[in-house]
Order: sequence, then structure tokens, then C-alpha cells
Amino acid sequence: MEPCFLCGKPGQSECPDCRLVAVCSKEHKTLHRPEKLCFPFKIEQDPVKGRLMVANRDIQPLELILYDRTMAFGPKMGSAPVCLHCMKPIQNVDHLCSTCAWPFCSDKCSQSQTHRMECSILARNKMKLDFSDFENPHDHYRCIAPLRFLLLRESEPNFYQRFQYLMDHNKERRLDLDTWQTYQTYVNKFLRENCQLKDTFSNEEIDRACGLFWTNAFSCNSGGGQAIFPTFSFMSHSCTSNANHVVFPNRHLALQAKVLIKKGDEITISYISPLQSTMRRQAKLRDKWFFECSCSRCQDPSENGTNLSSLKCKASVLNEDQPCQGILTSNLASKGSECAWTCSKCSNQVPAKIVLELENSIAKELKEAESHKDIAVIEEILQKFETVLHPNHFLLILLKRHIIALGCDKISELELEQLEKIQTFCEEVLNVINRIDPGYNRDRGLILGHLANVKKFRCRKMFHKELIPQPVFQRQVEECMILFGESQKCMSMLVKK
Ligand SMILES: [Zn+2]
Ligand SMILES: [Zn+2]
Ligand SMILES: [Zn+2]
Ligand SMILES: [Zn+2]
Ligand SMILES: [Zn+2]
Ligand SMILES: [Zn+2]
Repeated sequence: MEPCFLCGKPGQSECPDCRLVAVCSKEHKTLHRPEKLCFPFKIEQDPVKGRLMVANRDIQPLELILYDRTMAFGPKMGSAPVCLHCMKPIQNVDHLCSTCAWPFCSDKCSQSQTHRMECSILARNKMKLDFSDFENPHDHYRCIAPLRFLLLRESEPNFYQRFQYLMDHNKERRLDLDTWQTYQTYVNKFLRENCQLKDTFSNEEIDRACGLFWTNAFSCNSGGGQAIFPTFSFMSHSCTSNANHVVFPNRHLALQAKVLIKKGDEITISYISPLQSTMRRQAKLRDKWFFECSCSRCQDPSENGTNLSSLKCKASVLNEDQPCQGILTSNLASKGSECAWTCSKCSNQVPAKIVLELENSIAKELKEAESHKDIAVIEEILQKFETVLHPNHFLLILLKRHIIALGCDKISELELEQLEKIQTFCEEVLNVINRIDPGYNRDRGLILGHLANVKKFRCRKMFHKELIPQPVFQRQVEECMILFGESQKCMSMLVKK
């Protein structure tokens, strides 16, 4: 018999319903088939990447892969004061808990079951905490999620056990002395000394709880909270992922396929926004999750053929007025941060550091450009930077997305020529998204919706001006309906976080 699909221990029985997995225990059987549905995945051990989730059969687009529930959650790291129950920002201290004196958004929230877990412990602290600043991060909020997690050791031992396989990256986190010290002061020392938990939880246990949240937490409660999900945390990252997840307010999480996932394929999500350059994605993944992404997109200088990080070569080949205009792409995958951008036409090279500086200064200018309400003004700025950046460079794609949103806000006022331009932008953005974030997802759904809308207005206008005959008009309306249907399907992805 195969090993257990989840923990890898010797399998005791095969699932009689799907016959695709073996389980070691009743408990892990429930994690494979909580109700009337078998989850189509198993956990495999990869020598390089560690544990990863693999499809045990073909999974259709939009199919549910798993749902996971958690009791390990709390305010996010570096949170300003929030209600400890619903995690909405706190605006005043009108509703203090009568036992521990932490602020809540309402008396109802202060009496919630969630807070009962930690209330008596927080009440042991005799140092007065100041909750008068509602804007800036309040370091004491860092202790809540780890404390709730640690309390599960007693109250929910089986659930607590399920976190044993997850990584905490404490070895790497320790190297950032400032952050590490902040946690030592506001979590370890606060809980062990002020809240008198010295004999209950060791420093190592508290460090591990903090590291688990740092490494594995996903945001919940509209971004005010963080939660760790024991099974879902096995998911690894890809910059072109094949699944999407949603966290619900009741602290359930659902994972859904974006595209067809073939049996044996690794199931991945993207930890970060896919609409950024390889250099930036890799820096984020390194800083937060301590790994070098080696997905196929990161290995490809053209990023799945999009040129999302590419520049235009400014080297003057013949004379000052004639820049080369070849495409500069990075060799990031092979050289890491030492890399340079190399021109495909001449031998010009630009070091990564210069590219980053250039991108940062352009990004700043584009941010300012976004404050303009006049599309023509933003378009001029776009044209200016199209001589420096590839038209698909992520900064320009973001700007085009902004122009599309502006245009669609006042679509009924737009002239034919403007509609045509917006439609082109929609097609360009969609073309990029199709390559780096294919399948059913919200970003793609939004652009498809805009494209359908612009196309509809445009063909209607052309028909009224007798620029297209009835049959052409009819066909274009049908195309719009198809686009619109596809957009709806993307948006029907369970509601976003
Ligand atoms: Zn097992
Ligand atoms: Zn089954
Ligand atoms: Zn509340
Ligand atoms: Zn309380
Ligand atoms: Zn990658
Ligand atoms: Zn060149």
C-alpha cells in the first residue's frame, strides 16, 4: 500500500471512494474527505523543495482542490490597534474589555468567544498599555496570534500537531537583529514575564510560533488579520501559478484550480503579485520567505515571452540620434544579483543596479502621472517611457491598466478614436496576463470585462455611424457576449480575501 497522502507514514487503508490515496489514520482520512468530496491532491517530498502538493488526478479549471479551516489567527504583524475579535481598526477606546482592558470595536466583540482564549492571560499584565495612537503599528499586537496558537497546544492538541511539518525560518529570521529583538521584547518577554507564562511556554516555543506566522500566514478579515492553515501551508509558490486561494471571514480557506492541472503536476499559488519583474519578485521572495524562486518564468529572460522586465537599448550605434532600440533582457536566472541586462542587437550591457535605479525613478514619475484625470496627459507620459521600456514592461502595463479604468469610468463620453485606443490597451494587458497569470482569476476577469464593454460601445458607435454593416455588428456583439461570459467566470472565483 502507498504511504499516507498527507504525512507519508505507512498507509493503513485506501480511500474506498476515489481509490486514489491511502491514509494512515481516521484523522487523516477526514482531511482527505471531510464531507462528501475527496480532495484531489497528495503531499510529496521533493529532495530540493521539501514538501509539495501534487494533483492525484486531472483537476478541471475552477474545481475546488481543498478547503482548510484554522483556529490559529490574530491581528497581522505590525498592526495598528484593531478589535481583537473582528480585527477592524479601532478608532477610540470606548469599548475596553472589562477584564484585560484591551480595546474593542463594540461591547459585543469584547465578549466574543475568540477573546475568551487570551483574556485572562492578558489581564495578568500590570504594565499600562497605551492604546491612544490609532494610526501607527502597535507592537504589542504582535503577541496575540502567537499566543492563540500556543494555547491550542492544550485546547486542540490534534490540530496543534498538524503544524509540526511547517517551516519557521527562525535561523534566517534571527539574522535581522532589529526585527528579532522587537519580537523578543513584545512577544517573548511580554508573554513570559508580564503575562506570567514563563512556566507554560519556553522561549523556543514562542520563537517557533512567531516564525510559523511569519513564514506561513495568509491575510484574513480584509487584510486586518493573519491566519495559518495547516494543510494549505504545504502549497508552494510559482510566479505563474495554477491555483488561487480565498480566505473567508469565518477563517475557512478554499483553494480552486485556475487552469487544467494534470495528474502528477505540482499545485502552486503565487505568494506575491505576478505583475512585477523577475528582479522584484525574487527580492520579495528572498526577503520574506528565504528562497530563490526557480520556476520556469524566473528561468526565462523573456518571462513567458512577455518581456515584462525588458528595456529598450539606448546605445547609439551609428550616431547620437539613432539609438539601437534593440531589446535588453536580464540573465537573472543564471547570474543572480550580479547580472546585467544584455541587448539582443548590439553588445550593450546595463548592470542590474542601474536598471533598478531607472525603474525606481520611472515608477515615481508614473505614480504622479496616475493623479491626472486626463487620459491624454497620461498617454503622453506613457509614450515618453515607451522609448526606454519595452511596451510590455510591468510599469507600463500597470499604467495602461490605470488608463483603462479611467476610460471605462466615462465610457459613454468617449469618441470612437479613444475607444479604439482603450481597446488596444485592454488587448495588450490581457495578452500579458494570459501568459503570466492564465486561467480563471480576478485580474484577468477585470480586464476581460473592460474589453467586452469597450468593444460593445465601439461597435455600437460604428454601426450607428454606418461604418460597419449589420452582420459585422451582429458578430461583434456576439464576441462581446463571449468575452463577458468569460469575465464572469473569472469573477465567480470565490470572493477574494
Ligand atoms: Zn497520515
Ligand atoms: Zn478519496
Ligand atoms: Zn469588533
Ligand atoms: Zn479581555
Ligand atoms: Zn518564479
Ligand atoms: Zn543595443
